[in-house]
Amino acid sequence: MTDGQTLFAVFALLYLIECLRLVPSAAWMAAGAEKSRWSTIRPWSRFQIGGGSPLLLTALPPLQAHTLALPWLFVPEHAALSVRLSDSMSASITWDQLSLRVDETTLHLDPSTSVRLPSPSLAKVWQQRLAEWRGMTPDQRRRAFLKHARTSLDTKAAAKTASEAAKHTRSLRRLATTHFIWCFGIISVVYHRFGDSLLVLGAAAVLLVLQIIQSWLFLRTTRKQTPVIPYRRWRALGIAFLPQLAMRAADAVSLTTDPEPPHPLAWRGLLEEKAWLQTACQFWREARYIPGWPQNDALPLEAEALHAFFRHENIAEADYDPPSNAKLPTCPRCGAEFQTGIAACNDCGGVELRIPAM
Ligand SMILES: [Zn+2]
Repeated sequence: MTDGQTLFAVFALLYLIECLRLVPSAAWMAAGAEKSRWSTIRPWSRFQIGGGSPLLLTALPPLQAHTLALPWLFVPEHAALSVRLSDSMSASITWDQLSLRVDETTLHLDPSTSVRLPSPSLAKVWQQRLAEWRGMTPDQRRRAFLKHARTSLDTKAAAKTASEAAKHTRSLRRLATTHFIWCFGIISVVYHRFGDSLLVLGAAAVLLVLQIIQSWLFLRTTRKQTPVIPYRRWRALGIAFLPQLAMRAADAVSLTTDPEPPHPLAWRGLLEEKAWLQTACQFWREARYIPGWPQNDALPLEAEALHAFFRHENIAEADYDPPSNAKLPTCPRCGAEFQTGIAACNDCGGVELRIPAM
């Protein structure tokens, strides 16, 4: 490789690293722009780093805005607090074993369980809220959770957060798209044709000018933003001189949010209805079909909250819990079919199978 190609490869690698974010393993990210439908991105939850997982933001132009959502990480049960660590892992901590401590963005719940939250302020909010829940009666906890669930499922607020993220970052994203094309497209073509020459130096100078404009745009966009972006001026300096920071300047703006992230189902209207409904089915099955479900008269707490939300959104039960046409016993949670004679699905922790009517 020539020096120029090596430099190009280093730029590309630094850019990809800049697109990586460490988020809670159960988090959801949506990417989109003002008028487009948004698409969802999930973290690689197989990799657990400091209680979170890496997530790759959309990297190719036209560069998009991002917004974060969190499913209910903490659900109060009668004797214990249920903690969602990732999509497939959860922990249960009895109320008297709960010892809460915040370390930056990590909330420690007992000596062996911790959860990463999107920001230090949200970690503090949950520390305080869980301490309150601990002192309540089971019925008070149930009501407090349902209230939190209602707030997190506000579809209007979630759509507003997303559209504001797109609006605030519009000019930053446009310039970043130009910068991306210049950096990875035009300069490499010029270099390929003319080798080390003044023309390449001139193209690189244009890149620097674009970065300086981006830095000024960043400072202007974030002048009144609350919460304040950490190290805002240092970041602006980095944007002026480091191409990867200049191309990803919008992420710092759209992903520094103070209000609590919504539940992913609050993105109704933002996502394609079909994709949203699929997510709704998935959340419903996980909340509704837990071991012991055929005997329980009342819905589990999470399912109760979802049920109220679906009713409020006028979604028919057949849409979020479609009836099964299977001839064999089926797991209502994961949909697997079994031979007759088997009563529970081991993959789902012993969820009782649904037996087809004869
Ligand atoms: Zn199953």
